Amino acid sequence: PLAGRVAIVTGSTSGIGLGIARALAAAGADLVINGIGDAGAIEAVRSELEQANGVRVLFDGANLMQPEGAVEMVDKALLRFGRVDILVNNAGIQHVSPIEDFPAEKWDAIIALNLSAAFHAIRTAFGPMKEAGWGRIINVASAHGLVASPFKSAYVAAKHGIVGLTKTVALEGARFGVTCNAICPGYVWTPLVENQIGDTAAARGISREEVVENVLLAAQPSKKFATVDELGALAVFLCSDGGQSITGTALPVDGGWTAQ
Ligand code: NAD
Repeated sequence: PLAGRVAIVTGSTSGIGLGIARALAAAGADLVINGIGDAGAIEAVRSELEQANGVRVLFDGANLMQPEGAVEMVDKALLRFGRVDILVNNAGIQHVSPIEDFPAEKWDAIIALNLSAAFHAIRTAFGPMKEAGWGRIINVASAHGLVASPFKSAYVAAKHGIVGLTKTVALEGARFGVTCNAICPGYVWTPLVENQIGDTAAARGISREEVVENVLLAAQPSKKFATVDELGALAVFLCSDGGQSITGTALPVDGGWTAQ
């Protein structure tokens, strides 16, 4: 359903971003993938996405901590593909600390990447989408865009902020065929989460199963992780014709977490 569309997915060299990139490519979209990491590993991901789906996939290693990184990434995509139809703002980081010890530079970094990068990318892509009369903007927020947990002040502030940005952009795009939605995952099975389980089990002297049930999934009534494939499927739906009237929403994919 997305053949001929061009999508940028930030932070798509691993985890949720990669899951969304995979689903958009499988639906026929050409892609710009973005992220930070080992060049060989990223090239393997890029070529696999391209070959498995018969679409064009370009890599842009923009550091989205810098405003000009986001702007240049969108400008380059417009230059290389002539259009940007879909923008998925997914790149994000976390830092966990009581607020009185929270490093100010971590606050700045989290606001820069998890919130401001989306603003700069949207600001640059929005004009061309409006002109084309079609656009899909998806911001990967979090259950923490809707509710808080202690010790995550910057992350929760940035994720609530991006839900507000989502609503504003939705209103500005509504007459122009440009939708903007936030996806709000609870715990998702990504390498990032998987790699924490062993260490947490060792640190607390409990089993891996207990870490999953009683630590990670304490807030998630389903007691199951969401998967990156589920998030990819939702992104494809939001980009399809069926999604054209869905705008300004914050859609939880959290096994019931934020229903409590
Ligand atoms: P991840 O660490 O697996 O992936 C993060 C991606 O962002 C990687 O591709 C990384 O290279 C990229 N990135 C990091 N710093 C960057 C920078 N400065 N510039 C450009 N790219 C950069 O994490 P994930 O779990 O897939 O998380 C992706 C998004 O989903 C984040 O916004 C996160 O807050 C959100 N999220 C994750 C979960 C979860 O349980 N995993 C839950 C809710 C929301």
